[in-house]
Amino acid sequence: MQRKRPFHVMIIPTLGCPSKCSYCWSSEEGSPVMSIDTVKEIVEWLKLFRDDPVTFTFHGGEPLLAGVEFYRKALPLLADGLSHLTPSFALQTNLWRLTPELAEVLKEYDVPIGSSLDGPKEINDLQRSEGYYDRTMRGYGIARDHGLSVQFICTFTSHSIKYKQEIFDFFMSNGLTLKLHPALPSLRSDEPERWALDPSEYGELLVYLLDRYLENMDRIEVRNINDLCRCVFSGRGTVCTFVDCMDNTFAVGPDGSIYPCYRFVGMPDYVMGDVRDHPSMDDLKRSEAWRRMNRFRECVEVHCRKCRHLRYCRGGCPYNAISHTDGEIRGVDPYCIAYKRIFDEITERFNREMLSSFGLQSSKPGIIALIRKIASKEEPKGL
Ligand code: SF4
Ligand code: SF4
Repeated sequence: MQRKRPFHVMIIPTLGCPSKCSYCWSSEEGSPVMSIDTVKEIVEWLKLFRDDPVTFTFHGGEPLLAGVEFYRKALPLLADGLSHLTPSFALQTNLWRLTPELAEVLKEYDVPIGSSLDGPKEINDLQRSEGYYDRTMRGYGIARDHGLSVQFICTFTSHSIKYKQEIFDFFMSNGLTLKLHPALPSLRSDEPERWALDPSEYGELLVYLLDRYLENMDRIEVRNINDLCRCVFSGRGTVCTFVDCMDNTFAVGPDGSIYPCYRFVGMPDYVMGDVRDHPSMDDLKRSEAWRRMNRFRECVEVHCRKCRHLRYCRGGCPYNAISHTDGEIRGVDPYCIAYKRIFDEITERFNREMLSSFGLQSSKPGIIALIRKIASKEEPKGL
């Protein structure tokens, strides 16, 4: 029997967003909202596209701007119309527009929520926008009251890296799982580098978080460290950054255009097709956008050929590769330095612990203890 290959379709109902985060690259003023007819076309497109389990993530901009009626119609259309693909759902939102009514609809389809919080209120509001923290926390309260699961992504910038200890303590003392992203240079800003996190600093941040996590393993989950350890010990990437995402991830913009990932939505050079044409995989591969993306694979072949982490790193994220250029792929993910740093650290610590296990056991929990802990956990889905 042929092995199933789960795939991921991100639906971007709008690129609009009520927040004005300083380092955001994806929000557009006055962006249109996806119509239900476009959702119906997504269903028609995917009916024959492939026969594998699918995860839909609603992303943005701010996807809740589409309103309760959009989700009330879109969720059953996707769930029933594509039941042969056993769809599951996720939502990435700042939670500002979550209402009890919307929460009820999301609960009906067990939609897990990813949200964004950059740490304590002062740090968060300085880099996201005044009043952000309170609005997000209000929505978080509604989500929790309705039994929805919420996990936060914390973006580390050139500013907030100075407060890494406070941020870690904030997540731990509030009982929140920590998942982090480095701030990328914004392709839409006049000062693209202002908030961007330097790749070497990102590497050192990951090592710092590894240390703090090992000291506090029973009090917090650090998702990135779990994922990085899984990569090393399973020998394959388990999150999109560390797999070749190009055949298994797609995004649909508000007008029905198909892109390689939500991060490219709104960039005309990366439109691979339109849901109304119900393109096959071969049709998408014939597009100019696909040829542009394929350049990433060529760069990985050259740049990463001799790297001992290639099997589970795969050159990182293609979007990160363009965020440091004018929109063209000219190399691998610039956070390569960070990935090497943390993958080396995990591998070397593991080897040291294995050797020393023949002598005296260390009293401090180490990588082997962490591997035991995450071995029992389910692998993450999606981003
Ligand atoms: S690796 Fe990057 S481009 Fe690929 S799906 Fe993930 S975020 Fe998108
Ligand atoms: S660590 Fe760097 S060189 Fe190694 S596979 Fe990843 S991106 Fe390529």
